[in-house]
Amino acid sequence: MGSHLTITSESGWSRLKRHFSESFSGELVYRRRAHDMERVDEQRVKRQRNAYRYILLLLAVILVPIDAHNLYLGELVPAVGGLLLLGILMINILLLSMNREAFLTPPLVLLLSISLVMLSVYYGQNYNLYLLYPLLVALPILLKTRWAVLLGVLSGLVAAPLVFTQYDHTTAMVIGASMGLTWLVSAWLVYAVTEQSRHLKDMAITDPLTGAYNRRYLELQLEQVLETWTRYQRPASVLLIDIDHFKRINDKFGHGVGDTAIKNLVEVISRNIRNVDTLCRYGGEEFVVLLAETPLSKARPVAEKLRAAVENTRVVPEVGMTISVGVCDVSVADGVDHWLNLADAALYLAKRNGRNRVELAESAIELAVPLDKTIPDWR
Ligand code: GH3
Ligand code: MG
Ligand code: MG
Repeated sequence: MGSHLTITSESGWSRLKRHFSESFSGELVYRRRAHDMERVDEQRVKRQRNAYRYILLLLAVILVPIDAHNLYLGELVPAVGGLLLLGILMINILLLSMNREAFLTPPLVLLLSISLVMLSVYYGQNYNLYLLYPLLVALPILLKTRWAVLLGVLSGLVAAPLVFTQYDHTTAMVIGASMGLTWLVSAWLVYAVTEQSRHLKDMAITDPLTGAYNRRYLELQLEQVLETWTRYQRPASVLLIDIDHFKRINDKFGHGVGDTAIKNLVEVISRNIRNVDTLCRYGGEEFVVLLAETPLSKARPVAEKLRAAVENTRVVPEVGMTISVGVCDVSVADGVDHWLNLADAALYLAKRNGRNRVELAESAIELAVPLDKTIPDWR
């Protein structure tokens, strides 16, 4: 049977559903390259605008029957107020559709909706309150948890006296409690989902044993640094670190001690680098430190400091442990792989020259190591 080319036409409804879920989805977008940055940012802003547009639309949908009812009853004050609000919402929805900034910010939407609650309570139209429940669910999504909870508590404090003066105590308590509960559950759900996605993102870029960044994250960072170098000539260096004779430690004391040594090494390195530097577990007992804004001349003393710190710390209580370091700066690199291979060549030189030492890629370049090879995942 031959292969088919199936062209699926998406229905309007599923397009709307996709658009809606994309608008509210998280920010798990990786920047592969520096020049993608602007595009990713643009997409994020566009998604935020779309999400905001949906919320305003929801608010308008809630408002229309309330306002129609007020007009029907001849309640002029809330009716005119409602019409004004509807006009403002429409203008904002229009602005957002034209990819412009809305002038109605999320906190303002919340304040307007609180005034709606207050007006409807003041006029004793109990059922209007229930129309506002979808909004109580939607606003935490828009405001994110911290602000949603704070403004929710504030709005509760403002609305409570009104609710209690308009209704008998039992009714007021039922209304207040159910509105508060709706708000809290919604805020909690947003919190849980945000935390979950943060946790997943963390897991995707860190190494479980040591908590250092993983290789995937390193490669993304290196690509960005290379782009920055090409465009603005901003220096950066990598240190490729490998534990000396680690097999002996494993063989003599077992893998448990080996693992502890790797974890302790990460501690020692972290203590000796700046917050702007990036420490990654590159392979089993190999690490890469990306030194931001650091030329080769300044990277060398850092590498030397790390080497000495490891030598002078009893990383493994049972035995002394040392590291060898290959240093290479961005200026000589043609790409991420080339950069790391040069650092690897320097590391190889450090091993060959007796271990527990630092070598620079400058001198390693003359080495008879094929620089176009890619470093194996596991040594
Ligand atoms: P060299 O000085 O030449 O680097 O000698 P070495 O013994 O350290 O050699 P190499 O770097 O090639 O060996 C790495 C060893 O590290 C191989 C592997 O058994 C061990 N190893 C890699 N990852 C882990 C890990 O996560 N835990 C433990 N315990 N050992 C690991
Ligand atoms: Mg080793
Ligand atoms: Mg190794």
